[in-house]
Amino acid sequence: MAARRTQEPGGNEARPNEARRRSSRFSYYGRLGAAEKRTYRKSDAVGAIVLPLPGALVPIVERFRVALAAGKRAKIEHVARELCLGITVSLEVPPVLVKVRSVRPSDHEGELHGLYTWEKGKVAVIEVWMRTARNRRVVQFRTFLRTLLHEVCHHLDFTLLGLSDTFHTEGFFRRESSLMRQLAGRPEKKARAPKTADAVKSKQLALFADG
Ligand SMILES: [Zn+2]
Repeated sequence: MAARRTQEPGGNEARPNEARRRSSRFSYYGRLGAAEKRTYRKSDAVGAIVLPLPGALVPIVERFRVALAAGKRAKIEHVARELCLGITVSLEVPPVLVKVRSVRPSDHEGELHGLYTWEKGKVAVIEVWMRTARNRRVVQFRTFLRTLLHEVCHHLDFTLLGLSDTFHTEGFFRRESSLMRQLAGRPEKKARAPKTADAVKSKQLALFADG
């Protein structure tokens, strides 16, 4: 049985500018087969996930912030599950199980932030890591929420958009940002290094494993 796993290694905090609207394809597009290219273009064409009642989920996000600040893994996981259930129920798609892990696994490529695994016939699973590998500090709220929503977007690619694969496209990152805006508002203005398409491309890792 095929399993689809999409993982987010280090560098996940940096994102394309949320205000960016001009769509451009990442360079890995050229290496995809014809069917994958069609899926990529479908993914790229959808720029937002509209939650029917985002206001109903905002209090859960606030509890998520409080739980993260307290740093208790079980509580964070409980609230993360509540939030993801709220999203999937409101969008009328199958649920996804969230597992909050402790210290991020790391290797020469960096730290793993999140992982989405889906096997046919089973409930999809999101894993997110709440502590950095380098100094074991709890990940910042917006970073952690964005990682969680990023993995939710992988789930929604299959369950809401009906795509046969889930790619990191400009459209994908806009959908992720659209969920962030609806649930946590816009970030306070901070000077940030611009993100390049090449840096994002290097994070695209979709593994197809036997399960
Ligand atoms: Zn991803």
